This record gives sequence, C-alpha cells and structure tokens, in this order.
Amino acid sequence: MKPIYVLGNGQLGNMLQEAGSRLGLTVVPMPIDRATDIPADAIITAEREHWSPSEFINSILSHQGWLNDKTFIEIPDRRRQKALLDELGLPTSKWCITTAVSELQELQERLGGKFLLKSARDGYDGKGQWRFTGQTDAQLPEWKEAAIAEQFIDFETEVSIVGARSPSGQFAFYELTENFHDDGILQLSIKTEGGFAKYQGQAEEYLSRLMESLDYVGVMAIEFFVTKEGLLINEIAPRVHNSGHWTQAGASVSQFELHVRAVCDLPLPKIAQSGCSLMVNLIGAAFDPRWYAAPGARIHWYGKEVRPGRKLGHLNFHHYDPNQVAQWLSELPLDERYQSNREKVIARLGLE
Ligand code: ATP
Ligand code: MG
Repeated sequence: MKPIYVLGNGQLGNMLQEAGSRLGLTVVPMPIDRATDIPADAIITAEREHWSPSEFINSILSHQGWLNDKTFIEIPDRRRQKALLDELGLPTSKWCITTAVSELQELQERLGGKFLLKSARDGYDGKGQWRFTGQTDAQLPEWKEAAIAEQFIDFETEVSIVGARSPSGQFAFYELTENFHDDGILQLSIKTEGGFAKYQGQAEEYLSRLMESLDYVGVMAIEFFVTKEGLLINEIAPRVHNSGHWTQAGASVSQFELHVRAVCDLPLPKIAQSGCSLMVNLIGAAFDPRWYAAPGARIHWYGKEVRPGRKLGHLNFHHYDPNQVAQWLSELPLDERYQSNREKVIARLGLE
C-alpha cells in the first residue's frame, strides 16, 4: 500500500496516523513550516485547509499524489465557498462579499438587521468574526476588505454531518451530531440514536452532492444550523472534523480510519454506530488528574502547550443508554465554563 503523507501535524494528523497504524498503513503527519521529503509514490492529504505559501507547499501542490486540489481552491476562502453553495443550490444564510468601501448601513439593509463579518480566510474557533447586533457606535473592522458579511441566524441548534467518498465512488456517513459551542469554540458534541433522523437523508444528500461536485476523496464535514425552515449550511470542513471525534469510541470505523480507507480506496463498510456518544473538548486548561478516574471516559490528550482557548484534548463516552452518558457527564470534573452546555446536554439526554 502507498504511504500516506498528511499536510499538518496537529492532533488530527496524529489521530490519522494512529488509525492508519491499526490497519498496518504508514501515515506520516508533516509540519507545514518545515520541508519533509515525500516519496514519489505517496498519497498526500491534509488535516487543515489554511496554510501560507512556501517552496515546500508549492512542492506538495505539484506532487502527483496531492489529493483534492480543486477542494483546496474552492473551500478555504469563504467567498468561494459560499458562492459554490449558491451555485449548487445548497441552502446557506444570505451573504455578500465586503470590500474596503463597504458600509454598515448598506449591509444592514441588504442582510436585514443583525449580521456577522467573517474574514475570508484563516478563521477558526470563532476567530476572525465580528458581530453587528445593533450597537449604535459600531464600526466595521479594518479587515472588511477581505471578508464576507452574513445574515445572523436565529437557530434552534447546530448539527453536523461527517462522511466520506472514495475514488471508486463509495460513500459512508455518520449520524448527525449535535454541537454545543462556547465563545465560538466547540465544547460538547452528542450523537443519539436517530436524534436527528428527520434530517439525516437530506444532510447526506447535501454532503454527497458537494463531494461529487468537487471530486473529493476522504472525509468531509458540513456544519448546519437547524432552523424552523430546516437545515441551513453554516460551513464546510474538507477534512476530519472535531464534531466527529466521538466516532473513535462510538462507531465500528472512526472518522480517522474512514479517511485513511477512503484516500487509499479501501472498502468503506456500513458503519455500526448504535447507542449514544458524547465528546467533551478539553480547552485552554491543564490536564485534570481526576479525569483518570472519570467513569466511562476515554481520554485523548494531545500533549500541546497549554494556552487559553486552545484545544488540548478530548474525552469520549459511549453507552447504549443515554441516561448513563448523562450521568457520567453530570459527574465529570469540568470548570464553570462548561456549566451552561453541560446542563443543555444533560437535559437533551433525558436525565433532568
Ligand atoms: P470552526 O471552529 O467551526 O472552524 P469558525 O471560526 O470557522 O469555526 P463558524 O463555524 O463560521 O466559524 O462560526 C463559529 C460559530 O459562530 C458557529 O458554530 C455559530 O455558533 C456561530 N455563528 C456563525 N455564523 C453564524 C450566523 N450566521 N448566525 C448565527 N451564529 C453564527
Ligand atoms: Mg464552524
């Protein structure tokens, strides 16, 4: 089997490597800022969609094993990503490109009341966003010349679908996951059996259409807002996704293994994923040794330097009974920043 080289060596790259090694495959995560020698027969995939140009990056983009070239042109720039969604007729919030001469009032009129500015490139974890909620002294940020403005959506909740497509045209999907953010960062994800069954077919159809149109190979995720009118696409991630981490404990094939299988054109089997899964992101604080003793917890600690707002690890929980998962969450040592989402998830899972 050909070796797989991964652009990026963060936690996603490491978890791809771990999944590949279980299949006896060679997966090599590469730092983006230091050149790695890549064999001519390698398959090259990515764990991130943002990078700065360099000689090394150029050598990757022109390598015969580089996958998904079209996707990495269309998706990382929000202006192109939103235009692609419109072109494909996939539902997304009303938006427009902003420029150096864009004005608040004009955007307000166009998008109706509340809206957001999102930087065209490099945004993640809620960074590169500016919100207009009617404040009288508001001024558009300087970076408006490379941004989009987007209507503010009063959503019921947020869900995501993670799935994959292989070169021979096989598809595989996970059940919709419900996501709970704090300060723009994903904090908790839950997957209950059939919890969003009424949207599952539609979400799979949107993701298939998108992957086919891009001739994409590997795992891709779509984040949705659930609104009274149905699913609205928030954004697309052309890679394994944080909201799919639960699949390491709650599915017969994890999203990392699925990605490795897809890029190698190995079989994508029907994935067993019954029961209830919960993923808790560990953000911005040192490892709490009490997690060693937490019932039901599968620990993934990334070994990164602790910084505020940084994703440092995650805990996975899985059980056939959602009440058990809720019980585990209620007893888990977490700081007060988790309180609001913890209560919401416990209520969803039916304990209170
Ligand atoms: P990620 O970490 O997922 O890459 P990001 O920084 O790229 O995040 P988005 O996913 O676009 O940015 O936005 C982060 C969060 O901000 C969303 O999950 C949602 O909670 C909120 N948000 C984004 N766009 C809107 C919108 N149009 N209306 C209301 N809330 C929004
Ligand atoms: Mg997002």
